[in-house]
Amino acid sequence: MKVHDKLFIGGDWVTPAGTGTIEVISPFTEEVIASVPDSTTGDVDRAVAAAREAFDSGPWPRMTPAERADVLGKLSEILTGRVDEIAATITGEMGSPLNFSTMGQAFAPIMILNYYVDLARTFGFEELRQGVMGPALVLREPVGVVGAIVPWNVPMFVTMTKLAPALAAGCTMVLKPAPETPLDAILLADALTEAGVPKGVVNIVPAGREVGEHIVTHPGIDKIAFTGSTAAGKKIAALAGAQLKRVSLELGGKSAAIILDAAGLENYVSQITFASLMNNGQACVAQTRILASRDQYDSVVDAITEKMRGLNIGDPMDMATDVGPLVASRQRDRVEGYIKIGQEEGAKITVGGGRPAGQDRGWFVEPTLFANVDNSMRIAQEEIFGPVIAVIPFDDEADAVKIANDSRYGLAGTVWTADVEHGIDIARQVRTGTYTVNGMMLEFGAPFGGYKESGLGRELGPEGLSTYLEYKSVSLPAGYEPPA
Ligand code: NAD
Repeated sequence: MKVHDKLFIGGDWVTPAGTGTIEVISPFTEEVIASVPDSTTGDVDRAVAAAREAFDSGPWPRMTPAERADVLGKLSEILTGRVDEIAATITGEMGSPLNFSTMGQAFAPIMILNYYVDLARTFGFEELRQGVMGPALVLREPVGVVGAIVPWNVPMFVTMTKLAPALAAGCTMVLKPAPETPLDAILLADALTEAGVPKGVVNIVPAGREVGEHIVTHPGIDKIAFTGSTAAGKKIAALAGAQLKRVSLELGGKSAAIILDAAGLENYVSQITFASLMNNGQACVAQTRILASRDQYDSVVDAITEKMRGLNIGDPMDMATDVGPLVASRQRDRVEGYIKIGQEEGAKITVGGGRPAGQDRGWFVEPTLFANVDNSMRIAQEEIFGPVIAVIPFDDEADAVKIANDSRYGLAGTVWTADVEHGIDIARQVRTGTYTVNGMMLEFGAPFGGYKESGLGRELGPEGLSTYLEYKSVSLPAGYEPPA
């Protein structure tokens, strides 16, 4: 067991104010693998002071975007050299299968970082406009100190959707990892130092939700960037609203995959199953509702059931594993609770429904498919956040779109059809922030975020940089010309 007894604040590893610790428990062995300090409000105050000083008088916001891009490029090189370590660390702390972690948990954050390194070099941070009344210089300035609060399911990915654009913009940051996954943030801290990110630009305080609320309400923080559950997002929005603090929220989802033509089903059944069950079903964009026409319903249920029967369940560190354990026993209770609810609601389990045979330890739940699901059932409306799929029949295309939209969420969605133009037409009708035709893709150069209760604001793409910028208009005398 590895004991970390310091916090990364002001560019140094410092002794925490309190004595509490967070134990990191392996979801596979159920053993304690590490401990980190449980940050207190006093630690947050110190972290905010360091971030404030780095923003108000440090070099980072005063460097040119290209200079910041150089440092962030170095960070990317360092992280690239540690991809295997990052993937194994995250798999160890939260149970994501290593074959998913390597790409989704380790490479993907670096790809996001690289995107912002490039964007920082070309983005128009300043623009001279010939306005209605005269010339105006429009400055896009960093919003200030950012409080970033992230969940456990894709910890470094979510961290990077915030850290990369915020740092590219010239902001400084207090980052609160989820208590389940503080270990990847320790790797990140060391990489930040090695890359030459100045002291105090990023400060890391692992803690639970009470200390999280202290970050949200802290007067020294200018903006909150939150990813997590819709329930927590609403609370955070209310707290931030009382102070008119800038806030962006990436929240839950209950996305629908619309299968239009079963003709190609054999081609995309693997992809649909992956899109539903990736990361052990603990993905905000998971396609957890699969919509199939009534005449193709049975063949869709059979094909996906068959695919799920063949999945390898087991040690997440084994590259051959498709489905590992859930993050915590609490999460397993939640998922098992929903499996019971689905049965009580009259849905039919075609595969799974219990704990996998032969796994006497680890927080496993069998990948489970519910057929005979009506969209009004709780298993079709509520985010389960585990390997549980609901297959719902539709009458015609209009009905499929109606069912897809009959949700409080609006994060992602997919359509599966031989006719891509027709797929785009469906995408226009579904009220979600991201959509994919024939696949499940998150494009890092395009905005990502939620309609309805899936969030507020956008990450990724140039829009994800803008969320860390304030606009300032400087009106200038008539006839002003910039120096050559
Ligand atoms: P959670 O909301 O319980 O916790 C997320 C983070 O917020 C943790 O760090 C937690 O300590 C902190 N937190 C919780 N309540 C808080 C409060 N009142 N004030 C301040 N901080 C608080 O969510 P979780 O269980 O860790 O993560 C799963 C959820 O995250 C799912 O709903 C999932 O859909 C969502 N998610 C969304 C996206 C997205 O991009 N939209 C990505 C990943 C996960």
